[in-house]
Amino acid sequence: MLSVSATAQRYSYGLKPTQLPQYELSVEKDASKELIDLERFIPGIVLDIRYATENNFTQERIYGLSKAYARKPVAEALKNAQAEFVKQGIGIKIFDAYRPYSATVKFYEVYKDTTYVASPYRGSRHNRGCAIDMTLIDLKTGKELEMPTEFDSFKKEAWPSTPVSNPLVKKNRDLIISVMSKYGFKVNSSEWWHFDFRGWEKFEVLDIDFEDLEK
Ligand SMILES: [Zn+2]
Repeated sequence: MLSVSATAQRYSYGLKPTQLPQYELSVEKDASKELIDLERFIPGIVLDIRYATENNFTQERIYGLSKAYARKPVAEALKNAQAEFVKQGIGIKIFDAYRPYSATVKFYEVYKDTTYVASPYRGSRHNRGCAIDMTLIDLKTGKELEMPTEFDSFKKEAWPSTPVSNPLVKKNRDLIISVMSKYGFKVNSSEWWHFDFRGWEKFEVLDIDFEDLEK
């Protein structure tokens, strides 16, 4: 994770994200603002936090810890979605959830196409703790269900509007989108794995490291 001093120099896009002390005050005033540890909160959820490894499009380790956090109502909705998937022998695997603003700046500086990476002028819904990158797994085998592309593919096949000829892949994509939609999430138009929580507007862009949230 970027150090605080390096981070401060990075606020050059006209957006001043909320940092730890203001975040703590906001949670005192409004409990829905709390970032919840999804691994602790949702039984059986699996993490594969790619930005805590070099297995991501930047080919660098961006996060110091492999953690998934989301704001409280987002975590609750995701818990309900997981319970529905589990009835079908399926579980959720998370690739990314809350993402500190500094990471969004870094992604933009690596790959300046805002179709695929968030603009640092506005921040990402991940920065607000209101977006989840995920896929589905078979609970018996632990294997991912087949989807149109890999996570973070920049191909057109990743768009939820692109037709899929394989009926099984179509079924899997339809399932993740329909169940997530039922629990208040909207799929991104160029990424089948990215889900925004409806009502994200009330949550501020944050720049707090996982290390600080763990304390
Ligand atoms: Zn995403």
